[in-house]
Amino acid sequence: MARFLTECPALHPANPNGDYLEITWLEPTGRHKRPRTQAQTCTMCRPEWYELCMAGGLWVIRRHKVAGQHQVAGDRIIQTHETEFMREKDAYALWSDIVYGRAR
Ligand SMILES: [Zn+2]
Repeated sequence: MARFLTECPALHPANPNGDYLEITWLEPTGRHKRPRTQAQTCTMCRPEWYELCMAGGLWVIRRHKVAGQHQVAGDRIIQTHETEFMREKDAYALWSDIVYGRAR
């Protein structure tokens, strides 16, 4: 018998804690055209999701937000911001802070 998923299996970050760290989100630099995604939170259930990327030996976290919908095509309009580029260790630490609601 087929089994169907009743819950989304993707990663959902916890709601931010009361005293969470406020991340400084920057306009994308466009410095690397094709950063490789190492981890990503759910892109379907939430209007905002996060992506942990590696590019040229440095790491960056990107935040994507649904900002509206194109009137004709109906596609979502996505606004993207990113952190500063950082070392792997710092990027993973910040990533887990986002996932556990300690940073946003
Ligand atoms: Zn989901």
